[in-house]
Amino acid sequence: MASDLAVPDTAFDHQQQLLKNLARPAARSLGVYNAGLSAEVVQQKYGIARIAKLASNENPLGASPQVVAALEADAQLCAIYSDASSAALRKALAQDTGVDAGNIIIGNGSEDILHMLALAFLSPGDRVVTLIPSFGLHEIFPRMMGADVTMVGVNAQQQFDVEAWETALTTPAKMVIFSNPSNPVGCMLNREGFARIIDAAPQDCVLVIDEAYFEYCETDADYPDSLRVLAEQSRPWIVLRTFSKAYGLAGLRVGYGLASHPELVSLLDRVRTPFNINRSAQVAAVAALQDKQHVRDSIALVTREREIMQADLSALGFHVAPSYANFLFFDCGRPATELAAELLTCGVIIKPWRETGYEQWVRVSIGNEQDNRQFIDSLKRILAEDGA
Ligand SMILES: *Cc1c(COP(=O)(O)O)cnc(C)c1O
Repeated sequence: MASDLAVPDTAFDHQQQLLKNLARPAARSLGVYNAGLSAEVVQQKYGIARIAKLASNENPLGASPQVVAALEADAQLCAIYSDASSAALRKALAQDTGVDAGNIIIGNGSEDILHMLALAFLSPGDRVVTLIPSFGLHEIFPRMMGADVTMVGVNAQQQFDVEAWETALTTPAKMVIFSNPSNPVGCMLNREGFARIIDAAPQDCVLVIDEAYFEYCETDADYPDSLRVLAEQSRPWIVLRTFSKAYGLAGLRVGYGLASHPELVSLLDRVRTPFNINRSAQVAAVAALQDKQHVRDSIALVTREREIMQADLSALGFHVAPSYANFLFFDCGRPATELAAELLTCGVIIKPWRETGYEQWVRVSIGNEQDNRQFIDSLKRILAEDGA
């Protein structure tokens, strides 16, 4: 803000240009992550009491009551630094996953681990292969380091295009990264496809499998048991999971990575900030792991409500991609940003997609029954007004 100190416009502009020149070229040209709007902002701007926040794939049940109790019990200790090694949480995760604690890295959200991976491994010109449409940070963090990013599209049925992946992976790459199930599409790479992509990936790359939505399909017979498959490979890999979705801890920021080798964890430890996981996040995550019933209840709610929303959207004539996660991705038949703006005036926040070729697609999270009704009813009203 120049106004307070009354700096002349020319000096203000000069400084802006200077900063751009000082910045690393890769940072200067970086895209900005589309993080979406908060419920409070929309509430104030449109004066709407009830907001259906369906843009960030949060858990409509919230966190387990056991998590809330654990946070309350720890609140008095907020003057004390957190454990920089997250030892208790890594131990709990080792028990939960069967992976040695020494092979586990904790992040301030799994996005923090994506950031560490970029810092630790990528240099200008390195090649990264990922998916499109994609989780924005799979592209943004590699570009931040000056890497070249190859993006492999989904096929016409909005499924992983395994052949296209195999072709893309014939060229050397430093890192291969995709989410399974995918965000934003919701498609699942099955066992066979997973094995083929792993086989095709260069032996000397880092495989990053982002399983942010693991809990929503871990019991599906077609979902690859990535840890088992990858354990048979003597090559670098890391599987990322998070407490933000099925565990309902998005606001606390805690995710984890299960790595092929302690050296991978050690490399990530060097590039992270020392106290990246705050006390509350560590305490809450340990408590969350002890309440699996809450996770099962969350998944049951999402599965039930997803079917209803999928049917409602199809009945309205929209093409909806099949989803294995807690959101749906559909072609809304018009610029998605326009529909998103109209829905905002009804108190509904969704995520309009912005990647090339997907400007008419929106991603909507599965909320509770009331949120989902508000979304579908608002959508019907908008369509009716357009038709009138
Ligand atoms: C939500 C999401 C994340 C981020 O999770 P955090 O742990 O909250 O940082 C990572 N990857 C994918 C694919 C996601 O959808």
